[in-house]
Amino acid sequence: MAKKNTDTHGYTFDTIIIGSGPAGSTAAEILAHGGQRVAIVEAEKLGGECLNYGCVPTKSMLTAAHLFRSVKNQKAITNSGLLKLRINKLVSLAENNIAKTGAEELGTEFKKLGITVLEGRAYFLDSRYIDVGGEKYSANNFIIATGGEVAIPNVPGLDGLDYLTYKNFLPKIKERTPRSVTIIGGGAVGCEYAQILSATGAKVNIVECAERLVSDQEPEASEVLLKNFEKVGVKVYLSARVVAAHPSSTGNLKEVEIICPKDGQIDLKTDSIMVAAGKKMRDGGDGLGNTGIHCENGLIKTDSHCRTTQEHIYAIGDTTGPYRLTSTALQQARIAALNILSPIKKNLATVDHTVTPSCIFTLPEVAKVGESTISLRTRKVKFVESIVLLSNVTRAKLEDDLGGFVKLWADPVSKNILGACLVGPNSAEQISSLALAIKMKVSTHQLADLTQVFPTWSEAISLAASEL
Ligand SMILES: Cc1cc2nc3c(=O)[nH]c(=O)nc-3n(C[C@H](O)[C@H](O)[C@H](O)COP(=O)(O)OP(=O)(O)OC[C@H]3O[C@@H](n4cnc5c(N)ncnc54)[C@H](O)[C@@H]3O)c2cc1C
Repeated sequence: MAKKNTDTHGYTFDTIIIGSGPAGSTAAEILAHGGQRVAIVEAEKLGGECLNYGCVPTKSMLTAAHLFRSVKNQKAITNSGLLKLRINKLVSLAENNIAKTGAEELGTEFKKLGITVLEGRAYFLDSRYIDVGGEKYSANNFIIATGGEVAIPNVPGLDGLDYLTYKNFLPKIKERTPRSVTIIGGGAVGCEYAQILSATGAKVNIVECAERLVSDQEPEASEVLLKNFEKVGVKVYLSARVVAAHPSSTGNLKEVEIICPKDGQIDLKTDSIMVAAGKKMRDGGDGLGNTGIHCENGLIKTDSHCRTTQEHIYAIGDTTGPYRLTSTALQQARIAALNILSPIKKNLATVDHTVTPSCIFTLPEVAKVGESTISLRTRKVKFVESIVLLSNVTRAKLEDDLGGFVKLWADPVSKNILGACLVGPNSAEQISSLALAIKMKVSTHQLADLTQVFPTWSEAISLAASEL
């Protein structure tokens, strides 16, 4: 397809996008469809974290792990003692799904749309020029979509050990199947990996420095998750500090020394260590300091139109926040691309982060949307809340609810829903209805009146709404 030379001002491209994760690749495709001359720079694998190391591999392995647990729990219809889940089969499944979802497909799509792929690391020389592998390129607009990096905690001795992260998990696990794994970090990534590993029979410890698992979720969600981990033999150490890590004096094991209020100082002997302690942003790296754009708390500062403090440079996805989610990255990509294409710069499209549903794909799933009750309390915003256990609906007689619940909170006067937390089967799918309810300013009365399919978990949503 021939590209219109819209507004290059003598620059090499209309827009250069740095990073080909979900944020960068979506923006590139929209801009190319809009007739722009587009280049995308990628230092590693096309598709970024979501496709190669994040959502696609974890959700592939988790789906299989949950299916395995469900079948194993059906003692009345299966000879569950004979069932085994092998980690190398999970790894192959994840690799196949990565191939199916496709870096290769992405490359073909870019080619079809006339998008130039520049392989290598982009380094800003100034706000108009970048260097990639010794070549200089310029553009009228830039989009920074560079994501983040694995954060490695400063633990004495850890550096000298061969540890797992979400980035090296697949190749390393293929080399050697661990019988025990100590996971440093009890956030979403740590909990999802604990679920995958424990389903394969590995003995798993989670060491978390906060008082509870998934501490950005509602407190009741953390409790349910903790109980379910304890039920399947995952040992969780809370408010725990990792003080050192080193090879064990006996055998081929590693030792993680921790201090926690409940158990005091203990050495966890383990086959493998997995670091899942969050992500580090790339602020200041890759020549960002030469552009004059501002960073705050590690994130690139943007306005509601996804523009940085240099109006021709946009930043989207994990690199700018506020959420490190593919869904947020995709929304910001659409907004940034539309704003670059817009001929009227006075009326730019705006991002809306108030309704961002998300889910941790553990068993049970933990999904949330809207403002958290913790944030509302901190800001002294008044609200009413209700919580209904899933055991109150008929579906729980047919399937295991794993102690799940629906929690809703609403404005005390208008009764509009402000937020929701769902813990239980299919929460990731169900949370969309509550996202819509918040977006459309649906009241608790309207939600309570809604007829739900019988027998489903969703009936608990109407019950919770009727209590507000
Ligand atoms: C284990 C795990 C599970 C996850 N599961 C989910 C989930 O279920 N749902 C969900 O919504 N989110 C999930 N996420 C988060 C999701 O992966 C990220 O939010 C998403 O990938 C962010 O997209 P992005 O395009 O901003 O950045 P990325 O996907 O990180 O892509 C950035 C790209 O930029 C490249 N890059 C960086 N610097 C340069 C440079 N200077 N030059 C050239 N290229 C560069 C990098 O190599 C990378 O390919 C998960 C994350 C992890 C780690």
